[in-house]
Amino acid sequence: MELEKLIELDKKHFIHPTSSIQQQQANGPKAIIKKGEGIYLTDKNDNVYIDAMSSLWNVNVGHGREELVEAAAEQMKKLAFSSTFSTFSNEPAILLAEKISSIAPKGLNAVFFTSGGSESNDTAIKLARHYWRIQDKPEKRKIIGLNRAYHGVAAASTSATGIPEFWSMAGKMMVDIYHADNPYGNGTVKAIQSLRSVIESEGPETVAAFIAEPIQGAGGVLIPPKDYFQEVRNLCDDYGILFIADEVITGFGRTGKWFGIENYGVTPDVISFAKGVSSGYIQLGGVIVSDQIHDVLKDKSSGTLFHGYTYSGHPTAAAVGLKNIEILEEEELVENSRAMGEVMLEGFNKLKEDLDIVGDVRAIGLLGAVELVEDPALNKRFSRDLQVAPKVIEALHQRGVICRAVTYEDTDIICFSPPLIINKKQIETMTEKLHDAIKEVRNGLS
Ligand code: PLP
Repeated sequence: MELEKLIELDKKHFIHPTSSIQQQQANGPKAIIKKGEGIYLTDKNDNVYIDAMSSLWNVNVGHGREELVEAAAEQMKKLAFSSTFSTFSNEPAILLAEKISSIAPKGLNAVFFTSGGSESNDTAIKLARHYWRIQDKPEKRKIIGLNRAYHGVAAASTSATGIPEFWSMAGKMMVDIYHADNPYGNGTVKAIQSLRSVIESEGPETVAAFIAEPIQGAGGVLIPPKDYFQEVRNLCDDYGILFIADEVITGFGRTGKWFGIENYGVTPDVISFAKGVSSGYIQLGGVIVSDQIHDVLKDKSSGTLFHGYTYSGHPTAAAVGLKNIEILEEEELVENSRAMGEVMLEGFNKLKEDLDIVGDVRAIGLLGAVELVEDPALNKRFSRDLQVAPKVIEALHQRGVICRAVTYEDTDIICFSPPLIINKKQIETMTEKLHDAIKEVRNGLS
């Protein structure tokens, strides 16, 4: 269809997620993407972009993978869908549950499937409450998360999210959810003190679980100090609180390990996952629980577990997930993420040497960020009115790189999360374009 017609129809009929409706009405869609190949996306005007965000932190094996198309088609020809309610089962779902258990941290071996990250976190939170309830501790219902966390937009996941903008649309959907200080910027001691004080003021006997992303993505790629999660683990153990790691972004190789929490040498009780499990080729997510939780469920969860999505254990989604993990293994993409992450960080550090508005730069595997500040020595931020990060995103877009800005309380953060197949040369091109984009915006400021 003609581009003009598509833009008109988009404005008329398509309500975009996490987007400004008024901006869409004024400007139309930012780009209409028609094709993906490797790390590249092409729009209707034949502009080619480096997909520096793996779309939404999820296309880990890159675009246009025939193997995944074939896995879906083969499965659909045999059995596109059948339900797994009432203990019906199917082979791909069984095999995927087994496969995920084999790559998950030791001691987490049972999987509940969902269609995405929000459902996964709602499931994790409901399971945590259920776990305590069936052990005669129904008062253990409260959930604690972190400021700046993003856990999704379903009822519990919206509430657990620590970015207040997400509560503005319809309110905080669930009561009994509290937030502690972020370790990024505050350091471990202060952040643990904050967590301890929330637990103690609420009463540990009323707290079911603590939920955190190993590295906060939407918050601005906020990497906690090395010792933070060990302290979290100790605190949770001392108070009898479950630790849920939200690995929706950090799972499946993003940080150079299968799961992000492995960078901290700590084992959570529950892992929620989505995105990289299927590299976005199909909607898929889930929750992995510890043997200890699974044993309690087996022993005490009598009657029906009244929680399930129509598409939990979807055979086609599972077949794609299995093939996706096979690709990650065969092409050693977790290792590539680690190695290329170092190249990306080197590139960011060079920017810091060259450009006087580059502040903190960071990366862990292929998850990284560059902060822009008025004065790096003093970490003095630009005024929000200047819109520095959005301008850099626009300058990058003009140069053929798609990535995301995070701006809050005068922070200007440019996030990077490229496909795990990216090579050294492609990273160099990406960071060169970033250099030019920042330079252009910087020159426009003075
Ligand atoms: N958790 C984290 C850490 C995320 O980054 C996201 C999405 O970006 C979600 C949960 C929600 O996942 P979904 O958008 O698939 O519902």
